[in-house]
This record gives sequence, structure tokens and C-alpha cells, in this order.
Amino acid sequence: MHEMALCESILDILQEQAKAQRFSRVRTVRLEVGALSCVESEALRFNFEVVTRGSLAEGAGLELIEVAGEAWCLVCAQPVTVGGLLDACPLCGSHQTQVTGGDTLQIKELEVD
Ligand SMILES: [Zn+2]
Repeated sequence: MHEMALCESILDILQEQAKAQRFSRVRTVRLEVGALSCVESEALRFNFEVVTRGSLAEGAGLELIEVAGEAWCLVCAQPVTVGGLLDACPLCGSHQTQVTGGDTLQIKELEVD
């Protein structure tokens, strides 16, 4: 259920932004979701709706933009794209990789009133 906690922190950010940028309503939230962030989009959407109920973002659209997972392969000594945390390097098949990106969740853009 970490999607619930994620949605709560998203709402916190929206409320802070609303104060800083003086808007009162959020229409759309565009969220970058890393392929390695272990977030379930369905759970995220559901929790977002629940958490934002009665808030400035009630009924706001949630657009998810998927970001590929990035890792550094120690064998190839170059960056590679991976689809999962436990995936092998697509070039050499080794598991000696370190995740360097695509493991986070980030608000990319807001549409507000
Ligand atoms: Zn490799």
C-alpha cells in the first residue's frame, strides 16, 4: 500500500505549490513514473482519487508518463535500459548492474486554475 503514502505526499506538494503559486484548483497532474519505481498505476489512480477527495485536487485528472529504467552495467561499463529491478543487462546478460534512474515518481507538470 505504498501508493497511498505516495499519493499523500503528492497532495502535500500540491498544497504547497498552491500557496506558493496562488492557485486554488488542480485540474490535471502529470506524473512521471519510473519503470523501476514498483508503483502500480491502477493502485496509484485509485488512491489518488481517495486522497484528493475534498481537497483542491478533487476530481483532478492523473496522467502517468512512464519513464524507462536506467542502470549502469559494470561489465559493459556503459548505461543500459532495463525493464525491472532484477533484470539482467540487455547487452551482456550480467546482473552486475546498478540502477541509476527510472526508480522514482516525479510531478512533471500541473494544470491549475
Ligand atoms: Zn552489460
